[in-house]
Amino acid sequence: MAHGITVIPGDGIGPEVAEATMRAVEATGVAVAWECVEAGAKALAETGKLLPDTVIQSLNRTHVGLKGPTETPIAGGHKSINVALRKRLDLYVNFRPVRMLPGLKTRFQDLPIDMVIFRENTEDLYSGLEHEVVTDVVESLKIITRTASIRIARATFEFARKEGRKKVTAIHKANIMKMSDGLFLKCCREVAAQFSEIEYGELIVDNACMQLVMRPETFDILLLPNLYGDIVSDLAAGLVGGLGIVPGANLGERHALFEAVHGTAPDIKGKGKANPTALMQSAALMLAHLGERKASRSLQAAIEKVYMEGKHLTGDVGGKASTSEFTKAVVGSLR
Ligand code: ATP
Repeated sequence: MAHGITVIPGDGIGPEVAEATMRAVEATGVAVAWECVEAGAKALAETGKLLPDTVIQSLNRTHVGLKGPTETPIAGGHKSINVALRKRLDLYVNFRPVRMLPGLKTRFQDLPIDMVIFRENTEDLYSGLEHEVVTDVVESLKIITRTASIRIARATFEFARKEGRKKVTAIHKANIMKMSDGLFLKCCREVAAQFSEIEYGELIVDNACMQLVMRPETFDILLLPNLYGDIVSDLAAGLVGGLGIVPGANLGERHALFEAVHGTAPDIKGKGKANPTALMQSAALMLAHLGERKASRSLQAAIEKVYMEGKHLTGDVGGKASTSEFTKAVVGSLR
């Protein structure tokens, strides 16, 4: 039986990296039945809807999605598709493994960086509750609930236990946001107490950013509310070669949506320069989630082999290859 997978190519470089990733997944030999649906700016132009019903209908059939980035306008315009999808499907865990790829030259290349980011995905300042109180005074509501904080903390510690990881660090600003971040921390501590074999620590977000740059190799698992999780993810991506590298997964009880950390990268759209590594590594996570462990390992190994050889890398990581040349090299390593 082929695995049904919903594909949302998205905007900007999304269709380019999605196509490359589908080719790489097919080259593993796993039987897949892609269901391609549009969401984002392209869907809005074609159907008048940012998130057409076909997207949710397909995900309710397949329960697994592979998604390219979708456009979110700055300071106005439509709301984020990512936020809408995460809320509609209750994808409360944002999981982002940040690892150094072998052979890749970065400023931190000598350090064994291997950390995992668990970002709460449904609330915080992403609740989208903003209003103008009086002219020129705007209020943005930061929502933190016990339910959401406990479940992200539990997902984090359960992963740590299953994978034999050593330490979870909760990141916060509870010295200033004593009630909201205070509640988040309280929940993290409660869950940590149930996992006594895993070391638990806390860092204030500004200090965490400095420590991440100075001693990235000492971090194991990071547990963060939504906004800090977003910012720290990009910082962490910068440590291991940039946004073209880091994969991600949005996980809930019923659905899993795999997508890269990066955005639509409009500056390189349609130029054949996009690095599909992040979405390909997301697809390796997806294959593992589908129980296709061998294919997942083969795809990951093929990507690493191409990095090790260093001959077919894209411009963002110091190479000269196009998206399709890189993809060809990965596919070639899988055969
Ligand atoms: P968005 O607002 O859509 O989330 P962003 O502000 O996070 O976008 P990106 O679109 O991710 O920004 O791009 C930031 C920079 O990183 C750009 O210069 C872009 O070209 C580069 N970049 C991002 N992803 C990739 C990729 N896959 N390959 C090569 N360069 C990339």
